[in-house]
Amino acid sequence: MKTYKNDLESTVLSGRKLNISFEFFPPKTEEMEMKLWEVILKMENLKPNFVSVTYGAGGSTRERTHEVIKKIIDETSLKPASHLTCIAASKHEIDEILRNYWEIGVRHIVALRGDMPASSANYQLRSDGYKYANELVAGIKKIGDFEISVAGYPEKHPEAKSFDEDIDNLKRKVDAGASRIITQFFFDADAYFSFVEKCRKARIEVPILPGILPVTNVKQTKHFAKMCGAKIPKWMDKIFLGLDERQETRQLIAGVVATELCRILHNAGVNDFHFYTLNRSDLTAAICHVLGVREV
Ligand SMILES: Cc1cc2nc3c(=O)[nH]c(=O)nc-3n(C[C@H](O)[C@H](O)[C@H](O)COP(=O)(O)OP(=O)(O)OC[C@H]3O[C@@H](n4cnc5c(N)ncnc54)[C@H](O)[C@@H]3O)c2cc1C
Repeated sequence: MKTYKNDLESTVLSGRKLNISFEFFPPKTEEMEMKLWEVILKMENLKPNFVSVTYGAGGSTRERTHEVIKKIIDETSLKPASHLTCIAASKHEIDEILRNYWEIGVRHIVALRGDMPASSANYQLRSDGYKYANELVAGIKKIGDFEISVAGYPEKHPEAKSFDEDIDNLKRKVDAGASRIITQFFFDADAYFSFVEKCRKARIEVPILPGILPVTNVKQTKHFAKMCGAKIPKWMDKIFLGLDERQETRQLIAGVVATELCRILHNAGVNDFHFYTLNRSDLTAAICHVLGVREV
């Protein structure tokens, strides 16, 4: 009788130690804040290497990001990484934020340029600002010996003229002092593998953490994907088709889809995973469980 190898078995029984990290966004309301803290405290038990907190382009969440980061430092055992975008600020303003972060104990920054404002097609980057993330990375290193992570795009950043130019940019960010790349979300494992190959060819040697987004709402994800150059495969539409009103079923399917992607990455030897939690614990915790990450 023909037998089929059970890939899930290889994942579950691998016994490999994984490095996981979680991304949160700063809450807008009191209710969201309460929910976020429940989630953070639950996820703390999974002992992530770090947790990151996003920052609105143009500094729109500056205070809220700062508050979440400060509370993580004061009230949990977690190591926070603060996202910082430089697009609409002067170098002076950014340097002040960095000095403040260093003072309160932040030692890890996710250094980003931020998206161009959608309203102005001919947006001019500030002449007194850090224009691109590589300049920001170099600026951060001058303020303090922060650990720095930067963004990578397995399906190319939409503004980049070519993939090669995008990889050259990534190399500049690493050469300026970044020690980790976190990727934009993707749903095609091959896109990630091919991106890693391109990076290694360009002598980018730092860890490249796949950014995993468990999707329960395809419409919303399509909107994000359009902005950041990520591709939503056709099968994704099909798998969620007709489920708009069936949230529980969507939830189960979201778990299956994200676990399947992680399982493929894991079985190919990937040991580091970064989860876009969307401030929820259920799906990410379940995927981590399958990957062998347990509460301690
Ligand atoms: C892991 C992750 C976390 C993120 N977190 C946030 C967040 O918290 N807040 C937020 O607002 N956004 C966030 N983003 C989105 C990010 O800000 C956008 O994708 C933004 O458009 C690009 O930021 P970057 O740091 O990659 O920019 P850069 O690395 O500066 O690149 C931007 C574009 O410019 C090109 N480029 C770079 N240098 C040059 C040059 N010298 N000349 C011409 N072109 C150049 C690049 O190829 C690329 O196309 C995140 C993205 C990722 C992947």
